[in-house]
Amino acid sequence: MMLQNWSENVQFSAAKVYTPRTVEELQELVRASSTVRVLGSRHSFNDIAAIDSQIDTGQGGEAPAQDRPDAATNAYVSVEGLDVPVTFDRQRNTVTCGANVTYGELCQRMHAEGVALRNTASLPHISVGGACATGTHGSGDNNGNLATEVVGMELVSADGELRPLTVDSGDKGFLGGVVGLGGLGVVTSITLGTVPAYAMEQTVYEDLPVAELYDHFDEIMSSEYSVSLFTDWLGGTVNQVWLKRQLGAWPDGESNADSGGDGSKGPHAGNTFFGARPAPTHRHPVTRFDPDPCTPQMGIPGPWHERLPHFRVDSTPASGDELQTEYFVPREHAVPALQAMEGLRDRLASVLWISEVRSIAADRLWLSQSYETPTVALHFSWRKDWPSVRALLPVVEEALAPFQVRPHWGKLFSLAPAQLAATFTRMGDFRRLLRSWDPEGKFRNAYLDRHIYGQAV
Ligand SMILES: Cc1cc2nc3c(=O)[nH]c(=O)nc-3n(C[C@H](O)[C@H](O)[C@H](O)COP(=O)(O)OP(=O)(O)OC[C@H]3O[C@@H](n4cnc5c(N)ncnc54)[C@H](O)[C@@H]3O)c2cc1C
Repeated sequence: MMLQNWSENVQFSAAKVYTPRTVEELQELVRASSTVRVLGSRHSFNDIAAIDSQIDTGQGGEAPAQDRPDAATNAYVSVEGLDVPVTFDRQRNTVTCGANVTYGELCQRMHAEGVALRNTASLPHISVGGACATGTHGSGDNNGNLATEVVGMELVSADGELRPLTVDSGDKGFLGGVVGLGGLGVVTSITLGTVPAYAMEQTVYEDLPVAELYDHFDEIMSSEYSVSLFTDWLGGTVNQVWLKRQLGAWPDGESNADSGGDGSKGPHAGNTFFGARPAPTHRHPVTRFDPDPCTPQMGIPGPWHERLPHFRVDSTPASGDELQTEYFVPREHAVPALQAMEGLRDRLASVLWISEVRSIAADRLWLSQSYETPTVALHFSWRKDWPSVRALLPVVEEALAPFQVRPHWGKLFSLAPAQLAATFTRMGDFRRLLRSWDPEGKFRNAYLDRHIYGQAV
Protein backbone atom coordinates (compact mmCIF):
# COMPACT_ATOMS: atom_id res chain seq x y z
CA MET A 1 0.00 0.00 0.00
CA MET A 2 1.39 3.41 -0.92
CA LEU A 3 0.24 6.40 1.12
CA GLN A 4 1.32 10.00 0.72
CA ASN A 5 1.39 13.10 2.84
CA TRP A 6 -0.77 16.14 2.10
CA SER A 7 1.81 17.68 -0.19
CA GLU A 8 2.51 14.32 -1.88
CA ASN A 9 6.25 14.82 -1.45
CA VAL A 10 6.61 11.96 1.07
CA GLN A 11 5.59 8.37 0.38
CA PHE A 12 4.79 5.86 3.10
CA SER A 13 5.23 2.36 1.79
CA ALA A 14 3.19 0.22 4.10
CA ALA A 15 2.30 -3.43 4.02
CA LYS A 16 -0.71 -2.37 6.03
CA VAL A 17 -2.07 0.54 8.07
CA TYR A 18 -3.69 -0.77 11.21
CA THR A 19 -6.71 1.04 12.61
CA PRO A 20 -7.43 -0.72 15.88
CA ARG A 21 -10.99 -0.37 17.17
CA THR A 22 -10.15 -0.62 20.85
CA VAL A 23 -7.26 0.37 23.08
CA GLU A 24 -6.78 -3.33 23.90
CA GLU A 25 -6.38 -4.13 20.19
CA LEU A 26 -3.88 -1.30 19.90
CA GLN A 27 -1.94 -2.61 22.90
CA GLU A 28 -1.75 -6.07 21.34
CA LEU A 29 -0.59 -4.60 18.05
CA VAL A 30 2.17 -2.57 19.71
CA ARG A 31 3.33 -5.61 21.72
CA ALA A 32 3.50 -7.75 18.57
CA SER A 33 5.29 -5.21 16.35
CA SER A 34 8.99 -4.51 16.12
CA THR A 35 8.57 -1.02 14.62
CA VAL A 36 5.54 1.23 14.98
CA ARG A 37 4.85 4.64 13.50
CA VAL A 38 1.66 6.57 14.13
CA LEU A 39 0.05 8.45 11.29
CA GLY A 40 -1.82 11.65 12.09
CA SER A 41 -3.55 13.53 9.28
CA ARG A 42 -0.23 13.38 7.32
CA HIS A 43 0.13 17.14 6.89
CA SER A 44 3.84 17.21 7.74
CA PHE A 45 6.20 18.03 4.90
CA ASN A 46 9.07 15.78 5.93
CA ASP A 47 9.40 12.11 6.80
CA ILE A 48 8.62 12.51 10.51
CA ALA A 49 5.57 10.25 10.16
CA ALA A 50 7.30 7.68 7.93
CA ILE A 51 9.16 4.61 9.10
CA ASP A 52 11.87 5.17 6.52
CA SER A 53 13.16 8.27 4.83
CA GLN A 54 11.25 8.70 1.61
CA ILE A 55 11.23 12.30 0.52
CA ASP A 56 10.47 12.62 -3.16
CA THR A 57 13.40 14.19 -4.96
CA GLY A 58 11.11 15.66 -7.60
CA GLN A 59 13.43 14.14 -10.16
CA GLY A 60 11.45 11.12 -11.20
CA GLY A 61 10.38 9.15 -8.19
CA GLU A 62 11.26 8.75 -4.59
CA ALA A 63 14.73 8.04 -3.32
CA PRO A 64 14.64 6.37 0.07
CA ALA A 65 17.69 7.31 2.13
CA GLN A 66 17.46 3.87 3.68
CA ASP A 67 15.97 0.96 1.83
CA ARG A 68 14.37 -0.98 4.63
CA PRO A 69 11.23 -2.68 3.29
CA ASP A 70 8.48 -2.91 5.83
CA ALA A 71 8.78 -6.19 7.61
CA ALA A 72 5.68 -8.09 8.65
CA THR A 73 6.11 -6.83 12.18
CA ASN A 74 6.48 -3.17 11.19
CA ALA A 75 3.24 -1.28 11.64
CA TYR A 76 1.81 2.01 10.58
CA VAL A 77 -0.96 2.78 13.01
CA SER A 78 -3.84 5.21 12.80
CA VAL A 79 -5.87 5.85 15.92
CA GLU A 80 -8.89 7.09 13.99
CA GLY A 81 -10.73 3.83 14.63
CA LEU A 82 -10.58 4.30 18.41
CA ASP A 83 -13.87 5.50 19.75
CA VAL A 84 -12.72 8.20 22.18
CA PRO A 85 -15.65 10.52 22.95
CA VAL A 86 -15.15 14.27 23.23
CA THR A 87 -15.82 15.07 26.89
CA PHE A 88 -15.83 18.31 28.85
CA ASP A 89 -14.78 18.91 32.45
CA ARG A 90 -16.48 22.12 33.55
CA GLN A 91 -14.64 22.26 36.88
CA ARG A 92 -11.17 21.95 35.44
CA ASN A 93 -11.99 23.80 32.20
CA THR A 94 -10.71 21.05 29.98
CA VAL A 95 -11.78 19.04 26.96
CA THR A 96 -10.61 15.49 26.26
CA CYS A 97 -10.60 14.04 22.74
CA GLY A 98 -9.06 11.30 20.65
CA ALA A 99 -5.58 12.19 19.35
CA ASN A 100 -6.81 11.66 15.78
CA VAL A 101 -9.52 14.33 15.97
CA THR A 102 -8.88 17.33 13.76
CA TYR A 103 -8.96 20.83 15.19
CA GLY A 104 -11.76 21.63 12.75
CA GLU A 105 -13.96 18.92 14.24
CA LEU A 106 -12.92 19.59 17.83
CA CYS A 107 -13.45 23.35 17.62
CA GLN A 108 -16.99 22.90 16.30
CA ARG A 109 -17.79 20.55 19.18
CA MET A 110 -16.25 22.96 21.67
CA HIS A 111 -18.04 26.00 20.32
CA ALA A 112 -21.37 24.18 20.55
CA GLU A 113 -20.57 23.70 24.26
CA GLY A 114 -19.68 27.38 24.75
CA VAL A 115 -15.95 26.85 25.18
CA ALA A 116 -12.91 27.65 23.06
CA LEU A 117 -9.21 27.15 22.54
CA ARG A 118 -6.92 30.12 22.96
CA ASN A 119 -5.36 29.57 19.56
CA THR A 120 -5.29 27.44 16.43
CA ALA A 121 -2.92 26.90 13.50
CA SER A 122 -3.69 28.37 10.08
CA LEU A 123 -5.28 25.13 8.99
CA PRO A 124 -8.10 23.31 10.86
CA HIS A 125 -7.60 19.98 9.05
CA ILE A 126 -4.63 18.75 11.10
CA SER A 127 -5.00 16.25 13.94
CA VAL A 128 -4.59 17.29 17.56
CA GLY A 129 -2.10 14.47 18.17
CA GLY A 130 0.06 15.27 15.16
CA ALA A 131 0.00 19.03 15.73
CA CYS A 132 1.03 18.79 19.39
CA ALA A 133 3.74 16.22 18.58
CA THR A 134 5.50 18.74 16.31
CA GLY A 135 5.02 22.03 18.19
CA THR A 136 2.50 23.39 15.70
CA HIS A 137 1.47 26.97 16.44
CA GLY A 138 -0.61 29.97 15.44
CA SER A 139 0.28 33.57 16.29
CA GLY A 140 -0.05 35.96 19.20
CA ASP A 141 2.36 37.48 21.68
CA ASN A 142 0.49 35.88 24.56
CA ASN A 143 -0.30 32.58 22.85
CA GLY A 144 1.95 29.58 23.29
CA ASN A 145 2.02 26.88 20.63
CA LEU A 146 -0.87 24.41 20.51
CA ALA A 147 0.97 21.87 22.66
CA THR A 148 1.03 24.33 25.56
CA GLU A 149 -2.70 23.72 25.98
CA VAL A 150 -2.13 20.03 26.69
CA VAL A 151 -2.71 19.15 30.35
CA GLY A 152 -2.79 15.39 29.91
CA MET A 153 -2.37 12.53 27.45
CA GLU A 154 -2.79 8.78 27.46
CA LEU A 155 -0.25 6.74 25.50
CA VAL A 156 0.31 3.13 24.67
CA SER A 157 4.02 2.70 25.29
CA ALA A 158 6.43 0.24 23.68
CA ASP A 159 5.60 -2.52 26.19
CA GLY A 160 1.92 -2.24 25.30
CA GLU A 161 0.93 -0.55 28.57
CA LEU A 162 -1.55 2.36 28.59
CA ARG A 163 0.18 5.16 30.50
CA PRO A 164 -1.08 8.61 31.54
CA LEU A 165 1.13 11.67 31.30
CA THR A 166 -0.36 14.69 33.06
CA VAL A 167 0.80 18.19 33.86
CA ASP A 168 0.10 17.76 37.56
CA SER A 169 1.63 14.31 37.95
CA GLY A 170 4.98 15.92 38.74
CA ASP A 171 6.42 13.61 36.08
CA LYS A 172 9.17 15.48 34.22
CA GLY A 173 8.33 13.27 31.30
CA PHE A 174 5.29 15.46 30.68
CA LEU A 175 7.33 18.50 29.70
CA GLY A 176 9.51 16.32 27.51
CA GLY A 177 6.77 14.16 26.08
CA VAL A 178 4.11 16.55 24.80
CA VAL A 179 6.14 17.71 21.80
CA GLY A 180 7.23 14.10 21.44
CA LEU A 181 7.74 13.68 17.66
CA GLY A 182 5.83 10.39 17.85
CA GLY A 183 8.74 8.83 19.75
CA LEU A 184 7.24 7.96 23.14
CA GLY A 185 4.31 5.84 22.07
CA VAL A 186 0.85 5.96 20.53
CA VAL A 187 -1.16 8.83 21.99
CA THR A 188 -4.76 7.69 22.26
CA SER A 189 -6.37 10.70 23.97
CA ILE A 190 -5.40 14.28 24.77
CA THR A 191 -6.81 16.72 27.32
CA LEU A 192 -6.59 20.44 26.53
CA GLY A 193 -7.34 23.58 28.52
CA THR A 194 -10.41 25.60 27.53
CA VAL A 195 -11.62 29.19 27.89
CA PRO A 196 -15.15 30.57 27.43
CA ALA A 197 -16.11 30.93 23.75
CA TYR A 198 -15.40 34.35 22.30
CA ALA A 199 -16.11 36.44 19.22
CA MET A 200 -13.43 37.67 16.83
CA GLU A 201 -12.95 39.63 13.67
CA GLN A 202 -10.05 39.88 11.28
CA THR A 203 -8.87 42.68 9.06
CA VAL A 204 -6.21 42.59 6.37
CA TYR A 205 -3.93 45.51 5.55
CA GLU A 206 -1.71 45.73 2.51
CA ASP A 207 1.72 47.09 1.67
CA LEU A 208 3.22 47.74 5.07
CA PRO A 209 6.53 49.57 4.45
CA VAL A 210 9.38 47.42 5.78
CA ALA A 211 10.98 50.52 7.31
CA GLU A 212 7.86 50.84 9.50
CA LEU A 213 8.04 47.15 10.34
CA TYR A 214 11.64 47.36 11.45
CA ASP A 215 11.04 50.54 13.47
CA HIS A 216 7.83 49.30 15.13
CA PHE A 217 8.12 45.52 15.11
CA ASP A 218 6.99 44.96 18.70
CA GLU A 219 4.10 47.43 18.43
CA ILE A 220 2.91 45.80 15.23
CA MET A 221 3.12 42.22 16.48
CA SER A 222 1.36 43.06 19.74
CA SER A 223 -1.26 45.33 18.16
CA GLU A 224 -3.92 42.59 18.19
CA TYR A 225 -4.61 39.19 19.74
CA SER A 226 -3.03 37.45 16.74
CA VAL A 227 -0.95 39.06 14.02
CA SER A 228 0.43 37.47 10.85
CA LEU A 229 2.61 39.18 8.28
CA PHE A 230 2.69 37.79 4.75
CA THR A 231 5.61 38.87 2.59
CA ASP A 232 7.51 37.84 -0.52
CA TRP A 233 10.37 40.05 0.76
CA LEU A 234 10.17 42.08 -2.48
CA GLY A 235 9.29 45.68 -3.17
CA GLY A 236 10.18 47.16 0.22
CA THR A 237 6.77 46.30 1.70
CA VAL A 238 5.10 43.48 3.59
CA ASN A 239 2.34 42.32 1.24
CA GLN A 240 -0.34 41.73 3.87
CA VAL A 241 -0.86 42.13 7.62
CA TRP A 242 -3.61 39.92 9.10
CA LEU A 243 -4.97 41.29 12.38
CA LYS A 244 -7.21 39.00 14.42
CA ARG A 245 -9.02 40.81 17.19
CA GLN A 246 -10.85 39.35 20.17
CA LEU A 247 -14.22 41.06 20.64
CA GLY A 248 -15.58 39.57 23.83
CA ALA A 249 -17.64 36.64 25.03
CA TRP A 250 -19.63 34.73 22.42
CA PRO A 251 -22.37 35.48 21.45
CA ASP A 252 -22.66 38.83 23.21
CA GLY A 253 -19.23 39.94 22.02
CA GLU A 254 -20.48 39.87 18.48
CA SER A 255 -23.24 42.37 19.06
CA ASN A 256 -20.93 44.57 21.14
CA ALA A 257 -18.45 44.76 18.28
CA ASP A 258 -17.99 48.18 16.78
CA SER A 259 -17.79 46.63 13.33
CA GLY A 260 -20.61 47.11 10.87
CA GLY A 261 -19.92 43.72 9.35
CA ASP A 262 -18.99 45.24 6.04
CA GLY A 263 -15.44 46.09 6.92
CA SER A 264 -16.22 49.77 7.11
CA LYS A 265 -15.88 50.11 10.88
CA GLY A 266 -13.25 47.52 11.86
CA PRO A 267 -10.59 48.32 14.45
CA HIS A 268 -8.30 50.11 12.06
CA ALA A 269 -10.51 50.24 8.99
CA GLY A 270 -10.52 53.49 7.13
CA ASN A 271 -7.22 54.32 8.79
CA THR A 272 -3.82 53.26 7.71
CA PHE A 273 -1.93 50.76 9.86
CA PHE A 274 1.69 51.89 10.13
CA GLY A 275 1.39 53.07 6.53
CA ALA A 276 -0.47 49.95 5.27
CA ARG A 277 -3.94 50.33 3.74
CA PRO A 278 -7.02 48.21 4.46
CA ALA A 279 -7.51 45.54 1.79
CA PRO A 280 -10.52 46.43 -0.37
CA THR A 281 -11.83 42.86 -0.27
CA HIS A 282 -11.15 39.42 1.24
CA ARG A 283 -7.66 38.11 0.57
CA HIS A 284 -5.76 34.88 0.22
CA PRO A 285 -2.23 35.19 1.68
CA VAL A 286 -0.95 35.01 -1.91
CA THR A 287 -2.84 38.04 -3.18
CA ARG A 288 -3.49 36.71 -6.67
CA PHE A 289 -5.05 33.47 -5.38
CA ASP A 290 -8.79 33.02 -4.86
CA PRO A 291 -9.66 34.05 -1.26
CA ASP A 292 -12.63 31.68 -1.14
CA PRO A 293 -10.88 29.02 1.05
CA CYS A 294 -9.98 31.70 3.61
CA THR A 295 -11.88 32.64 6.75
CA PRO A 296 -13.91 35.88 6.57
CA GLN A 297 -12.02 39.15 6.92
CA MET A 298 -13.16 42.76 6.40
CA GLY A 299 -13.88 43.16 10.11
CA ILE A 300 -16.87 40.84 9.98
CA PRO A 301 -17.46 39.45 13.49
CA GLY A 302 -17.77 35.73 13.97
CA PRO A 303 -16.96 32.87 16.33
CA TRP A 304 -13.33 32.32 17.36
CA HIS A 305 -12.90 29.07 15.40
CA GLU A 306 -13.99 30.74 12.16
CA ARG A 307 -11.49 33.58 12.50
CA LEU A 308 -8.35 32.16 14.17
CA PRO A 309 -7.45 29.72 11.35
CA HIS A 310 -6.64 31.39 8.04
CA PHE A 311 -8.43 28.61 6.14
CA ARG A 312 -12.04 27.49 6.41
CA VAL A 313 -12.79 24.02 7.67
CA ASP A 314 -15.06 23.32 4.68
CA SER A 315 -12.50 24.43 2.10
CA THR A 316 -9.59 22.89 0.27
CA PRO A 317 -6.75 24.82 1.83
CA ALA A 318 -3.92 26.60 0.10
CA SER A 319 -2.82 25.30 -3.25
CA GLY A 320 -1.47 21.85 -2.35
CA ASP A 321 1.22 22.70 -4.83
CA GLU A 322 3.63 23.64 -2.10
CA LEU A 323 6.35 22.63 0.28
CA GLN A 324 6.83 24.33 3.61
CA THR A 325 9.73 25.31 5.84
CA GLU A 326 9.66 27.31 9.05
CA TYR A 327 12.36 28.65 11.33
CA PHE A 328 12.01 30.16 14.78
CA VAL A 329 14.31 32.78 16.28
CA PRO A 330 14.15 34.35 19.75
CA ARG A 331 11.97 37.44 19.65
CA GLU A 332 14.92 39.71 20.44
CA HIS A 333 16.52 38.72 17.10
CA ALA A 334 13.39 39.23 15.02
CA VAL A 335 14.35 42.39 13.15
CA PRO A 336 17.91 41.35 12.16
CA ALA A 337 16.55 37.93 11.16
CA LEU A 338 13.89 39.57 8.97
CA GLN A 339 16.53 41.83 7.46
CA ALA A 340 18.68 38.78 6.71
CA MET A 341 15.76 37.22 4.83
CA GLU A 342 15.11 40.43 2.95
CA GLY A 343 18.76 40.31 1.92
CA LEU A 344 18.09 36.92 0.27
CA ARG A 345 15.05 38.13 -1.64
CA ASP A 346 16.54 37.71 -5.11
CA ARG A 347 17.47 34.11 -4.39
CA LEU A 348 14.11 33.30 -2.82
CA ALA A 349 11.95 34.97 -5.44
CA SER A 350 11.63 32.24 -8.06
CA VAL A 351 10.84 29.47 -5.50
CA LEU A 352 8.73 31.25 -2.92
CA TRP A 353 4.95 31.55 -2.94
CA ILE A 354 4.86 33.56 0.26
CA SER A 355 6.44 33.88 3.71
CA GLU A 356 4.53 34.33 6.94
CA VAL A 357 5.85 35.90 10.14
CA ARG A 358 4.15 35.05 13.45
CA SER A 359 4.94 35.40 17.15
CA ILE A 360 4.74 32.68 19.81
CA ALA A 361 4.94 32.98 23.59
CA ALA A 362 7.65 31.16 25.58
CA ASP A 363 6.90 27.77 27.16
CA ARG A 364 8.57 24.96 29.11
CA LEU A 365 8.13 22.04 26.69
CA TRP A 366 11.58 20.60 26.00
CA LEU A 367 11.38 20.25 22.23
CA SER A 368 9.19 23.29 21.68
CA GLN A 369 10.71 25.84 19.35
CA SER A 370 9.73 28.46 21.96
CA TYR A 371 11.32 26.62 24.90
CA GLU A 372 12.10 29.27 27.51
CA THR A 373 12.03 32.10 24.98
CA PRO A 374 9.35 34.00 23.08
CA THR A 375 9.97 33.48 19.39
CA VAL A 376 9.18 34.82 15.99
CA ALA A 377 8.49 32.20 13.32
CA LEU A 378 9.62 32.80 9.74
CA HIS A 379 7.61 30.54 7.49
CA PHE A 380 8.19 29.78 3.80
CA SER A 381 5.55 28.36 1.46
CA TRP A 382 7.66 27.16 -1.44
CA ARG A 383 6.67 26.15 -4.92
CA LYS A 384 6.78 22.39 -5.20
CA ASP A 385 10.30 22.25 -6.58
CA TRP A 386 12.29 20.11 -4.13
CA PRO A 387 15.68 20.42 -5.88
CA SER A 388 15.48 24.22 -5.70
CA VAL A 389 14.09 24.18 -2.15
CA ARG A 390 16.75 21.73 -1.04
CA ALA A 391 19.44 24.01 -2.44
CA LEU A 392 17.95 27.03 -0.65
CA LEU A 393 17.50 25.51 2.81
CA PRO A 394 21.20 25.72 3.77
CA VAL A 395 21.31 29.27 2.41
CA VAL A 396 18.41 30.37 4.60
CA GLU A 397 19.77 28.41 7.56
CA GLU A 398 23.21 29.99 7.24
CA ALA A 399 21.66 33.45 7.16
CA LEU A 400 19.66 32.65 10.30
CA ALA A 401 22.49 30.81 12.09
CA PRO A 402 23.57 33.85 14.16
CA PHE A 403 20.08 33.97 15.68
CA GLN A 404 19.84 30.60 17.49
CA VAL A 405 17.56 29.23 14.79
CA ARG A 406 15.24 26.29 15.52
CA PRO A 407 13.23 24.52 12.79
CA HIS A 408 9.58 23.43 12.70
CA TRP A 409 9.70 19.66 13.33
CA GLY A 410 6.98 19.00 10.74
CA LYS A 411 8.46 20.99 7.86
CA LEU A 412 11.52 20.75 5.62
CA PHE A 413 14.93 21.71 7.01
CA SER A 414 18.55 20.65 6.66
CA LEU A 415 20.12 21.69 9.97
CA ALA A 416 22.66 19.15 11.23
CA PRO A 417 22.12 17.21 14.50
CA ALA A 418 24.84 19.28 16.20
CA GLN A 419 23.05 22.49 15.26
CA LEU A 420 19.76 21.12 16.60
CA ALA A 421 21.42 20.01 19.83
CA ALA A 422 22.95 23.48 20.24
CA THR A 423 19.62 25.29 20.13
CA PHE A 424 17.28 22.66 21.60
CA THR A 425 19.08 22.68 24.93
CA ARG A 426 17.03 19.79 26.38
CA MET A 427 17.90 17.45 23.50
CA GLY A 428 19.98 15.19 25.74
CA ASP A 429 17.14 14.95 28.26
CA PHE A 430 14.69 14.21 25.45
CA ARG A 431 16.91 11.43 24.12
CA ARG A 432 17.10 9.91 27.61
CA LEU A 433 13.33 10.20 27.93
CA LEU A 434 12.83 8.38 24.61
CA ARG A 435 15.18 5.62 25.71
CA SER A 436 13.40 5.21 29.03
CA TRP A 437 10.00 4.94 27.34
CA ASP A 438 11.20 2.93 24.37
CA PRO A 439 14.44 1.07 25.22
CA GLU A 440 14.35 -1.10 22.10
CA GLY A 441 13.55 1.71 19.70
CA LYS A 442 10.13 0.46 18.60
CA PHE A 443 8.99 4.01 17.81
CA ARG A 444 12.28 5.07 16.23
CA ASN A 445 12.26 5.93 12.56
CA ALA A 446 14.74 7.33 10.05
CA TYR A 447 13.74 10.89 11.03
CA LEU A 448 14.44 10.36 14.75
CA ASP A 449 17.68 8.53 13.93
CA ARG A 450 18.83 11.45 11.82
CA HIS A 451 17.74 14.44 13.89
CA ILE A 452 17.50 13.26 17.48
CA TYR A 453 19.85 10.36 17.90
CA GLY A 454 22.34 11.70 15.32
CA GLN A 455 25.17 9.25 15.15
CA ALA A 456 24.47 8.01 18.68
CA VAL A 457 22.51 4.77 18.53
C1 LIG B 1 -1.52 23.60 4.50
C2 LIG B 1 -0.76 23.43 5.80
C3 LIG B 1 -0.81 24.46 6.74
C4 LIG B 1 -0.10 24.31 7.94
N1 LIG B 1 -0.18 25.34 8.85
C5 LIG B 1 0.55 25.27 9.98
C6 LIG B 1 0.51 26.34 10.93
O1 LIG B 1 -0.26 27.28 10.81
N2 LIG B 1 1.32 26.26 12.00
C7 LIG B 1 2.18 25.22 12.19
O2 LIG B 1 2.93 25.23 13.17
N3 LIG B 1 2.20 24.16 11.33
C8 LIG B 1 1.40 24.18 10.24
N4 LIG B 1 1.43 23.11 9.37
C9 LIG B 1 2.24 21.93 9.71
C10 LIG B 1 1.42 20.92 10.51
O3 LIG B 1 0.70 21.55 11.53
C11 LIG B 1 2.31 19.88 11.18
O4 LIG B 1 3.07 19.25 10.21
C12 LIG B 1 1.50 18.86 12.00
O5 LIG B 1 2.38 17.96 12.59
C13 LIG B 1 0.52 18.11 11.17
O6 LIG B 1 -0.26 17.26 11.98
P1 LIG B 1 -0.69 15.84 11.41
O7 LIG B 1 -1.85 15.38 12.21
O8 LIG B 1 -0.86 15.91 9.96
O9 LIG B 1 0.59 14.98 11.81
P2 LIG B 1 1.41 13.93 10.91
O10 LIG B 1 2.15 14.69 9.88
O11 LIG B 1 0.55 12.82 10.46
O12 LIG B 1 2.43 13.39 12.03
C14 LIG B 1 3.34 14.26 12.65
C15 LIG B 1 4.03 13.53 13.81
O13 LIG B 1 3.07 13.28 14.84
C16 LIG B 1 3.08 11.91 15.19
N5 LIG B 1 1.74 11.54 15.61
C17 LIG B 1 0.58 11.80 14.99
N6 LIG B 1 -0.43 11.29 15.70
C18 LIG B 1 0.10 10.68 16.79
C19 LIG B 1 -0.43 9.93 17.89
N7 LIG B 1 -1.73 9.71 18.03
N8 LIG B 1 0.44 9.42 18.79
C20 LIG B 1 1.77 9.62 18.67
N9 LIG B 1 2.33 10.33 17.65
C21 LIG B 1 1.50 10.84 16.73
C22 LIG B 1 3.53 11.19 13.92
O14 LIG B 1 4.05 9.92 14.21
C23 LIG B 1 4.58 12.14 13.43
O15 LIG B 1 5.76 11.93 14.16
C24 LIG B 1 0.69 23.16 8.19
C25 LIG B 1 0.68 22.13 7.27
C26 LIG B 1 -0.04 22.24 6.08
C27 LIG B 1 -0.06 21.12 5.11
